[in-house]
Amino acid sequence: MARRTTPKKIRIDKAEAAKRVKKIWPILKKTYPDAKTALNYKNPLELLIATILSAQCTDVRVNIVTKDLFKKYKSAADWAKADIKDIESDIKSTGFFRNKAISIKSTCTEITEQFGGEVPCTMEKLLKLRGVGRKTANVVLGNAFGKPAIACDTHVIRLSRRLGLSENSDAVKLEFDLAEIVPRRSWTLFSHLLIFHGRNICRARKPDCGNCPISKHCPAANNPALW
Ligand code: SF4
Repeated sequence: MARRTTPKKIRIDKAEAAKRVKKIWPILKKTYPDAKTALNYKNPLELLIATILSAQCTDVRVNIVTKDLFKKYKSAADWAKADIKDIESDIKSTGFFRNKAISIKSTCTEITEQFGGEVPCTMEKLLKLRGVGRKTANVVLGNAFGKPAIACDTHVIRLSRRLGLSENSDAVKLEFDLAEIVPRRSWTLFSHLLIFHGRNICRARKPDCGNCPISKHCPAANNPALW
């Protein structure tokens, strides 16, 4: 199999990148009118657990597992007092189940002991929970609490580079780059739109530039050296 080479870097001009965001925003919004998280949840705790489970796992698989899981464990205290071996067995099919079980149990113990059983609604407090990094915190803030938040997953990282919005592949640096060029009120939806576009058209190995509605604004259109 041929080895993939590292894509060439596109020089980023922040003002140009902000203009590009303005142009692609309405097109992506029209293309993906239902863009939102694919994880099923009914409250912040369920979204937090589902997001932890989604690491290295598909959202479809997570939704299958959480369908029964959220009937068994209804509160942070339920997770906190559960036997770690039971949690491992319940989440096994999502992969990396030992680490995920530790993250879920310790996070829920902290939520129970330090936050009265309620998932905190600020970045600062969420980051105090073991097993919660910026990406997970942003998913919870943006979707369960309706606060502007940019969650940088693999699609957001790849598309931001191809679209010349940032050259950073480090998720935290990229989040701060995007925060400068995307209007604050649009942060959450913008990351969903990039994720939908990454899943449907701008796929990792073979982006479908011929059918891409934003190709005329994309510096990497039809240019494999920049993929
Ligand atoms: S033109 Fe190609 S590389 Fe650019 S966003 Fe569309 S599919 Fe991706």
